[in-house]
Amino acid sequence: MAISSDFSVAISGAGLSGLCLAQYLMRAGIDVHVYERDPGPFVRQQGYRIILDRYGLEALRESLSRPLYRLALATGDQPGGHLHFTDSRLRDAFTITFKDEPHATRQVDRLTLRSILMSGLDGRIHYGKAAVAVDDGGPAGLRLRFADGGAVAASVVVGADGVGSSLRAQLMPDAGPASTPMVGVYGRSPLRLGGRSVIPDALSTSGVLAIADRPGRAFFFTSMRFGEDPREAFARLAPGSYAPIGEDYVMWGLLLRREEVPPGLRGDLLALRDLAARMSADFHPLIGRLVDTAELDATVLNPFASGRRPQRWAVPRATMMGDAVHVMPPFGAHGGNTALRDAVLLGGKLVDARANGTPVEEAIAAYQAEMVPYAFRAVDTAARLMHRLTGGAAAPHWVLTRVLPRLHRVTVPEA
Ligand SMILES: Cc1cc2nc3c(=O)[nH]c(=O)nc-3n(C[C@H](O)[C@H](O)[C@H](O)COP(=O)(O)OP(=O)(O)OC[C@H]3O[C@@H](n4cnc5c(N)ncnc54)[C@H](O)[C@@H]3O)c2cc1C
Repeated sequence: MAISSDFSVAISGAGLSGLCLAQYLMRAGIDVHVYERDPGPFVRQQGYRIILDRYGLEALRESLSRPLYRLALATGDQPGGHLHFTDSRLRDAFTITFKDEPHATRQVDRLTLRSILMSGLDGRIHYGKAAVAVDDGGPAGLRLRFADGGAVAASVVVGADGVGSSLRAQLMPDAGPASTPMVGVYGRSPLRLGGRSVIPDALSTSGVLAIADRPGRAFFFTSMRFGEDPREAFARLAPGSYAPIGEDYVMWGLLLRREEVPPGLRGDLLALRDLAARMSADFHPLIGRLVDTAELDATVLNPFASGRRPQRWAVPRATMMGDAVHVMPPFGAHGGNTALRDAVLLGGKLVDARANGTPVEEAIAAYQAEMVPYAFRAVDTAARLMHRLTGGAAAPHWVLTRVLPRLHRVTVPEA
């Protein structure tokens, strides 16, 4: 489709929501550019796998071309499977079963998804551009300014720059996220060692949240199995795009209280992995093996935060999406899905406004009015789940770790 030049959108942040919106707008013929702080597309480990629910999948279906959407499904894991809630010795407390349908909730590799979202945006993603502010550029629109002193003009600016957003204080004053008492140390370990899966058959299609006897500590793990090798699938469906290496892995996360993490540990990968090993020593031996075999450069510390409802939007024609607005603790897997949902909602409003002559300020206000309720419902749900599963409330914790596991068979023998 021809790109019109009288209306342009500048997005700060080439994460999930920024790229998804760029895909949506580009396919609708809108002049869109994405400005990313990182110096290149794959300079950081981008966090393992992500569970896509119906909102995430619908957003991808609406924003990507058919082949790219097929690529996301083809490289993803099989739909279905279970989420087991267990005690620290992996004895079941209860289990959730996911639907096994073609478009149902499934896991995808985050790096692969990001590569898919970048496909076809050649020349529209600009790296090494850390956004710092939005200026009113007069009747023509806005100017997005960068830390390197440069600036670009755009009709609309969208802040999609994640939890540490630089634009938030200006666009959404007084709505910075609140910290929570919990953090996660995340890691990735090979799924197969010596040709054999490290995950027992009973859990091969399951995620597990193992809750420790001590309140405020839990361990999560799940295996990511590529449906099709990304190199083959990309060659077929997106030739020329970067195909990440698709080796199956186990993603894990140790959830801890913030005060248990010594200060200054963030960049020290060895110390982080040692901390994870020490703090998970009382769990089932399978968990110890996962931590011991973790890939060092994929170990990260993530303090959990909860977004606060914006009271006002300060710059007309500028708005925000994703974690920059509504970061949430990672309970329920809604953060990325909500960010993708924002992207297509905003994209749809902008495209409709262009088609029927509605002022763009009205389109943006309508997006904000619709986004805030569903996004903050998700934030509240995630915060409630975090409290229930890791909080100190005696009765729920006792039921989860002492009562329910006694009623079930042993899921993974401790051989
Ligand atoms: C370990 C882990 C597992 C998760 N699993 C799930 C899951 O299963 N399901 C789910 O729905 N969610 C999950 N999430 C949450 C999900 O990853 C986030 O909610 C999602 O990435 C938010 O997307 P976003 O577009 O808002 O921001 P991001 O994807 O974080 O992207 C923000 C981008 O902005 C860039 N940036 C930052 N500052 C600037 C600046 N000043 N200028 C320009 N660019 C900037 C960053 O470099 C980054 O590329 C998980 C998170 C973690 C940490």
